[in-house]
Amino acid sequence: MQEFIYYNPNGIDFPLPEKIVVTDSLIDNSDFDYVVSNTKSIRSEITADEIDFYINYSKDPLSSKIKNVEKLYEANAIRFDLAQDIVFKQEISNKVLLVCNNEQKKEILKSMVPDEFDLFQISEEIIKEINGHIGNLSILVDDEGKDVELKVDQIIWFDEKDLGMKQSGCFDPLKTSIDDVLANIRTNITNYEYKKFTTYDKTICQYHERREEICGKCAEVCPTVAIVKDDEQKHLEFSQIDCHGCGGCISVCPSGAIEYAPSSRESISEMSRFYEGQIPLVIPEKMNIGSLAVKLKENILPFKIEGEKFLHEATLLTLLQESGSQVIFYTDFLSKGTRDSISILNQIYQAKYQKDAILLAMTKEELVNAIEEVDFVENSKYKLNDMEMRKREIFAIRLSNIVGEDDLGVVTTGEHVHYGHVKVNESTCTLCLSCVGACNVNALIADTSDNTLRLNASLCTSCGYCEVSCPEGNCLTIEQDVIKLTPAWFKEEILAKDELFPCVECGKEFATTKAIEKIAAVMGPIFKADPVKERTLYCCEDCKPKIMMKSYMANPEGYNNKEGVSL
Ligand code: SF4
Ligand code: SF4
Repeated sequence: MQEFIYYNPNGIDFPLPEKIVVTDSLIDNSDFDYVVSNTKSIRSEITADEIDFYINYSKDPLSSKIKNVEKLYEANAIRFDLAQDIVFKQEISNKVLLVCNNEQKKEILKSMVPDEFDLFQISEEIIKEINGHIGNLSILVDDEGKDVELKVDQIIWFDEKDLGMKQSGCFDPLKTSIDDVLANIRTNITNYEYKKFTTYDKTICQYHERREEICGKCAEVCPTVAIVKDDEQKHLEFSQIDCHGCGGCISVCPSGAIEYAPSSRESISEMSRFYEGQIPLVIPEKMNIGSLAVKLKENILPFKIEGEKFLHEATLLTLLQESGSQVIFYTDFLSKGTRDSISILNQIYQAKYQKDAILLAMTKEELVNAIEEVDFVENSKYKLNDMEMRKREIFAIRLSNIVGEDDLGVVTTGEHVHYGHVKVNESTCTLCLSCVGACNVNALIADTSDNTLRLNASLCTSCGYCEVSCPEGNCLTIEQDVIKLTPAWFKEEILAKDELFPCVECGKEFATTKAIEKIAAVMGPIFKADPVKERTLYCCEDCKPKIMMKSYMANPEGYNNKEGVSL
């Protein structure tokens, strides 16, 4: 079976590589399944309509065009191979709730076949709560002072309020039209499928089971109820059926705990390799590339993405460095995380190369200007095999390649994407290592070879959990929202150091000197009436009971009579 097909009823006026089936007939190909095609008219896993856009509008010479069309097919095949967006089905019955007045109901009935839906009607004032999802919605209403639960599969709500907007299965005819909403509802009843858009690694999540709420950004930016926090247990709950797949949560997730299932970091990284020597033009699905008519100067190659909000500093820097070029991002909407990431990258590229990294185009006119302006960035190309690496690690390694041995100053990070620098007051730090235990991204580590507490600032998300976990006052603070573009930023920095304290009985090193001194300062005055007990403050846990027992056996009577001391 061949994987790639190019369909055009008018044919194509240059040859394509043999691995791509070229056809001008839909009939001949109706029995086959392909991985990538250029059009929805052919049954295929991926519709890469950027192929026609490129063929129609690129000014590349013919030989480059042939190679680049092949690259677009190959990149999409990688996207398909690495996607983790499993498709699920949901059964939907014809139970529909109308939230409207009687006039609006009459309008709806005019557009329906009689008895097509099992209809209920209520007014919005009595709605108290909506739970569940499309195919299984539960609406709690106030029926003259009594709570009543309605069960329906879909809701038509004129001028829907926040409660409905966040829920899957709720449609507002005032946003589109009655006919559009009814058509949508009919399609859902016959065939409702949804995808898994996010994957989640709780081990690096900065909300999961933490004593205090440190993160939760993904739930904050989610426009639906697809991510909710269980604040009792500090667990995140994901509802893939309620997810729109926009990817906003991915771009704000500091540690990379949430990934975009259709195009993971690994997928973006592998696809980016096809853009070496090309200028990527990133276009989200919603920008409808099929109807975009814009001339592309030489070397510009479209890079289509599914959701419009999931790109972050690590994925964007990957595309920048693998291509060795500036990147154009054409979108009419930017997520909070992507906006901050673009600002960070533009500051970095300005400091190093005196030009922006990402040229943002939010209108067609801005796109035309960006295409004029965009260019390769000399010496910016860098290849990295980032398999198995985490988001911050990928960004740190790529960024350290830009910084090299230079001092490029300081970058200010934004409101939604945070970097920072942990500072420790060495005189109060007892090296108890509570902060190391609190850090789940390995930014803080304990080096047992020299009894040091170390920080790799480039991995720190400045989440602040180490700060709240530190038992000492006036010890650990975080300088928020900076990235220092110096070589030291990427190296382990010693925050505190101490000697180990040898047990006064057996000589075994059992704690840090500062910790022992601190405990002795507090407990010494309390134990001062009993020199043996006072000595236990400087003993390891094996010797402590031994010397106490020895002292007791030597003089049991006298021991119990000692003022303020008892066993
Ligand atoms: S944004 Fe990331 S780290 Fe923060 S709570 Fe969500 S998954 Fe966890
Ligand atoms: S070092 Fe502290 S602030 Fe930085 S990621 Fe670790 S716990 Fe969070």
